[in-house]
Amino acid sequence: MNLKFLVRKNIYHLKPYSCARDEFQGIASVHLDANESPYNQEFNRYPDPLQRTLKEKIAEIKNVRPSQIMAGNGSDEAIDLVFRIFCEPNEDNVVAMEPTYGMYKVAADINNVEYRPVQLEENFRLNASKLLAATDIHTKVIFLCSPNNPSGNAMNREEILTIVQNFNGIVVIDEAYIDFSTGPTWLKDLDKYLNIIVLHTFSKAWGLASLRCGLAFASEEIIALFNKVKYPYNVNTLTQNKIINELNYVDRKNAWIEMILKEREPLTKALKSIPMVEKIYHSDANFLLVKVKDADKTYRFLTERGIIVRNRNKIPLCDNCLRITVGTPDENGALIGALKEFSNNQYQ
Ligand SMILES: *Cc1c(COP(=O)(O)O)cnc(C)c1O
Repeated sequence: MNLKFLVRKNIYHLKPYSCARDEFQGIASVHLDANESPYNQEFNRYPDPLQRTLKEKIAEIKNVRPSQIMAGNGSDEAIDLVFRIFCEPNEDNVVAMEPTYGMYKVAADINNVEYRPVQLEENFRLNASKLLAATDIHTKVIFLCSPNNPSGNAMNREEILTIVQNFNGIVVIDEAYIDFSTGPTWLKDLDKYLNIIVLHTFSKAWGLASLRCGLAFASEEIIALFNKVKYPYNVNTLTQNKIINELNYVDRKNAWIEMILKEREPLTKALKSIPMVEKIYHSDANFLLVKVKDADKTYRFLTERGIIVRNRNKIPLCDNCLRITVGTPDENGALIGALKEFSNNQYQ
C-alpha cells in the first residue's frame, strides 16, 4: 500500500497551520507568543495541540507508541477526519457493513462521499468477500465496527483479517466497545498492518462521555496526516487533565466493566422470560439488541414511564428491535418491571 496514492492530493501537499505552541515547546517563564491574556491563570493558556502528556500515558496503558495515537473530540472527530484525509468529494466512496454505527454515513454525506452499505449475514455475521466485492478503484476506506453497534456482537477476526489483507485502502476498525469483549484488540497489529485505523473512546467503558475524547491508533504516517488536518487545539485542557488523572484508575474502570458484564446476565434472563420478547441477540458489549413483538408501541410505553431505550425498528435487519443499554440493577429492574406490565396489558 502506498499512502501517497490513497491520500487526497490537496491534503498530501497541505502545509498545516503552525500554531504558537508548535513553534516553541520548551519551558519558558515569559509567554508573549500567542496573544493570550496574562490573566485568569488557570485557563489563559492554549492547550498542548499534540496532547503529549496524555498520549504518553495512553501509550503505556494500550501498549503502543505515542506517535501511533491521535486524540480527538470524541472518536466522531476521527471518523470525520478519515473522510477529509482520504476521500475526494464526489469521486471516492467508502464501504461499510450494515447495520452499523450511524456516524459513518452521516460523515460520508457531510463530505459528499458515496457510502456503500453491505448487509451483514444471519445473526449479524461479517462476510469479508461481500464487502470486498462492493469495492472498486474509488473505494478508499472500509468501515468495520467490532463489537458492532447496534447488534452488539464482535466480528470474526479471520473475516476482518481477510479484508485487511486484501483491500488496497484504509480499514477503520471501530472498537468503541472492545473493553466489554473477550476478543483481542487490533492494536497489537498496528505495526504489522499499516492500512488499519483502530478507534477507541473514553465514552463507554471509562464512563467519560461528557468529556468528549476519542482515540485513533494507526501507523505514524497516518497519524501525521491526522495531526496535519485536525484543528490545532481540538482537545481542551480540562479534558486532557481530567483524562490524565482518570487513567490512574484502570482498576476502577475494570471493576465497572465487570459489574456491567455480570449484570448483563440477569437482565438477559429476565428479558427472555417476557412473552413479547422474541429474540435477544448475542452481545459482546454493554447493551443488548432485543427483538420484540411491536418495537414502536413498546418504545412509546417505556417513554411514558420515563424509561428511554433506543428504537432500532426501521434499521435494516433490525425490524422490531430495541437497543437496551445495561444499566445499574435498579435501572434494569425498572425496565423489566415496565416491560412486564406492558406485556400483561397488551398480550393477555
Ligand atoms: C458510542 C460510539 C462511539 C463513540 O463516539 P465518541 O464520539 O467517542 O463519543 C464510536 N463508535 C461507536 C460504534 C459507538 O457506538
